[in-house]
Amino acid sequence: MDQIKIGKFIASLRKEQGLTQAVLADRLGITDRAVSKWETGKCLPDASVMPELCDILKISVSELFAGERIDMENLRESNEKLLLELKEGEERSNRKLLHIRISLIVISLVVYMAILIIASFLFKMELLNFAIPLFITAFVLLISLVTIAILIERDAGYFECPECGERYVPTMRAFIVSPHMGTTHHLKCPKCGKKAWHKKVMTK
Ligand SMILES: [Zn+2]
Repeated sequence: MDQIKIGKFIASLRKEQGLTQAVLADRLGITDRAVSKWETGKCLPDASVMPELCDILKISVSELFAGERIDMENLRESNEKLLLELKEGEERSNRKLLHIRISLIVISLVVYMAILIIASFLFKMELLNFAIPLFITAFVLLISLVTIAILIERDAGYFECPECGERYVPTMRAFIVSPHMGTTHHLKCPKCGKKAWHKKVMTK
């Protein structure tokens, strides 16, 4: 918080209102020394007088703290900027999820292959007590791998309907049974009901 800036702001607003330090102090029930201290940036107005001070100076408390008037145009602009940053953040984390999925699949496939090779070797050695549990492990690993991959792919980002532009997350059933090419799925839009190839997008 810039006390000097706030002080200058208070002084200029006080003068705008045609008030002396003494009159302003009087209306707030404080000493004019206190007003002088604010205006020179030595201290900030006490929280107890702040609402009345803002009332007299015709500003909001946020404007007092900012040490300047906040016009609505600036506010809207900064809100839009903030929203855009949030959106970009979401896009980044969704991309990250997709990357994690790919690494996960590669690592699991390597493990899966290794287990299969060891299991086949044990099978040939007729060590069935070891080979069979390993085959089962490999199978369970494959099933969970596919499930996780599907879950992540469905949840990362959204699908966009080319007909109406709706962006949504499909139901698990619709997602699994729909034909797909890469990450583009042939789905029925929940909004307009038309079937089409829905592209994957990273933001809503
Ligand atoms: Zn649609």
